[in-house]
Amino acid sequence: MKTKGLLIVFSGPSGVGKGTVRKEIFSHEELGFQFSVSATSRKPRPGEIDGIDYFFKTREEFEEMILNGELLEYAEFVGNYYGTPVEAVRNSINEGKDIFLEIEVEGAKQVREKFPEGLFIFLAPPSLEELKNRIVNRGTESDEAIAGRLKTAREEIDMMSLYDYVVVNDDVKVASEKVINIIAAEHCRRTRVEKIYRQILEAK
Ligand code: 5GP
Repeated sequence: MKTKGLLIVFSGPSGVGKGTVRKEIFSHEELGFQFSVSATSRKPRPGEIDGIDYFFKTREEFEEMILNGELLEYAEFVGNYYGTPVEAVRNSINEGKDIFLEIEVEGAKQVREKFPEGLFIFLAPPSLEELKNRIVNRGTESDEAIAGRLKTAREEIDMMSLYDYVVVNDDVKVASEKVINIIAAEHCRRTRVEKIYRQILEAK
């Protein structure tokens, strides 16, 4: 009997280092997680590749995807659309592969409503001050954009209650190991395992 893959939602405030931790996790190819490539209306940054980092769309194309029901969730973040194509998620789960979504909190909330049995992990900053330093040091944004991101971050921290687990990102390797361990534990959760065995018995 084929077991379904896990839908893993990895989220947290802007600037907390979700992308870095996610890349560290994905350097472990043996884990076999699928990465959910998001669609976005933002312009590619240097080095980003269409179809690998994001599916880069115009606003019109993105809105078309919304209308066609092609997105599991979507949100507008700092003036751009971001969303998760639903088909890849569906396929992975049905093929028994874990699919990993790295998304902001508004989108995570939508997924929680549609797919409560997912695994929801919140990456938290060691402190708001450190979060601020990280955003400033990134050096790619105006003061106004930074202030906007910080305000958003405070609101997002309030949203921690939607999640199953909170991992503090004080060290990328330690945080990524914790996420990997949480996923491993989730596969052993009694309710999930029991369901599979019961299905096998019922199929007999
Ligand atoms: P960035 O522009 O820095 O790549 O991403 C900005 C924010 O959008 C990050 O917090 C990132 O996790 C989030 N994000 C990326 N893809 C998606 C998505 O498909 N849906 C949602 N809701 N947020 C996303």
